[in-house]
Amino acid sequence: MLHPKKSLGQNFLIDKNIINKITSLKNIKNRNILEIGPGRGALTEKILEKNPKSLILIEKDYKLYEVLKKKYKNNNKVTLFNSDILKIDLEKIIDIKSIVFGNLPYNISSQILVKLIKFKNWPPKFTDLIFMFQKEVAEKIIGKSFGRLTIITNYRLKLSNKFNVSPNCFYPKPKITSSVLHLSPIKKEINKIKNLDNLEMITNIFFSNKRKMIKKNYKKILGKKRIKNLNLNLRPSDLKSEIYYKITELYEEKL
Ligand code: SAH
Repeated sequence: MLHPKKSLGQNFLIDKNIINKITSLKNIKNRNILEIGPGRGALTEKILEKNPKSLILIEKDYKLYEVLKKKYKNNNKVTLFNSDILKIDLEKIIDIKSIVFGNLPYNISSQILVKLIKFKNWPPKFTDLIFMFQKEVAEKIIGKSFGRLTIITNYRLKLSNKFNVSPNCFYPKPKITSSVLHLSPIKKEINKIKNLDNLEMITNIFFSNKRKMIKKNYKKILGKKRIKNLNLNLRPSDLKSEIYYKITELYEEKL
């Protein structure tokens, strides 16, 4: 067996109940599936048992890729890429109405999520994201600890399910508890941000001074323009996500 690589966030799932629970969150039969970081194939095997229409696998580790390639060489449903998920043109290769699974490499899990949120075409070519995160990151996503990731996620995704996973369910055992989130795209955008990079940039500015009142940064971004009933003496985490969308829209109007 190959030695797990820490640098690639390799914590392989070994608990059958959890593998079952994750792959039962959505009906897989006859669906297009994409899996990020299949590793040794813990989720992959279970997904294939459930008879999907197609399965795309993206694995960065060349050694694991080779093993998977050998294993699935006669399975015409499986398409395998030896690529970095952050570099591949995901929007191009993903099949329509895909369900995306991933026990994600923790060091880049939020970057992966943001990449999917920033798809150019919306509604996107995926109907569900079923991802394993560090519990701490999951709480930032769902707003239990409100921040940038909450705001960016809320713009395009809604939570449909979540549960925690103990370190004992993995090999090697991580130090932290994990959480599975099931997220789905919001079909119609309520706000009209032109470029999500601007929302990222603006939240970055506000949240780099978490304890400071928003006044100074607000004026830096929007000058004299005001939002009705918005108190500029509040701190960044006191504002609802919608206010950040509004600030971004107003900023884009000035461009
Ligand atoms: N799904 C497997 C493995 C999870 S560990 C399981 O549950 O057992 C995370 C996996 O993501 C590893 O296989 C790792 O090699 C892979 N990975 C790490 N960084 C990646 C990247 N940038 N792009 C694609 N895969 C990556």
